[in-house]
Amino acid sequence: MSPEELRDLYQQVILDHSRKPRNQGEIPPPCLHAHGDNPSCGDEIDLWVRLDGQNRIEDVKFTGQGCAISQASASMMTVKVKGRSTTEAASMREDFRRVVMGDGKPQDEDALGELTLLEGVQKFPQRVKCAMLAWRALEQALEGK
Ligand code: ZN
Repeated sequence: MSPEELRDLYQQVILDHSRKPRNQGEIPPPCLHAHGDNPSCGDEIDLWVRLDGQNRIEDVKFTGQGCAISQASASMMTVKVKGRSTTEAASMREDFRRVVMGDGKPQDEDALGELTLLEGVQKFPQRVKCAMLAWRALEQALEGK
């Protein structure tokens, strides 16, 4: 793919997820919940997670407001972590952090899939917080289990 094609794809995927977020809404209790905000940008995320008996993420939903990057990243995250174990989700979070911070290669790029399209934010330190917001909320929610 040429850099131009990649940039177009990046914009299409981000726009699509920010306009039509997947897994929006709340999960009724019992479930895990975390709230995250990013005051420098005004982004907010509320995340709900339900685990099955084997520590797999059976369901995950979010509500939120803020910039396109924060909401698209949250939407893309919910799609990718659903059905994964909490351990897998934690290593995906670390891999995603590497991608958006330009901090070395992810260990499992395939697991991240289209999330790697967000690597463009590494040039914009303020945007890294936007992209990581939902993942920080996921970490918080899972710590509460
Ligand atoms: Zn933001």
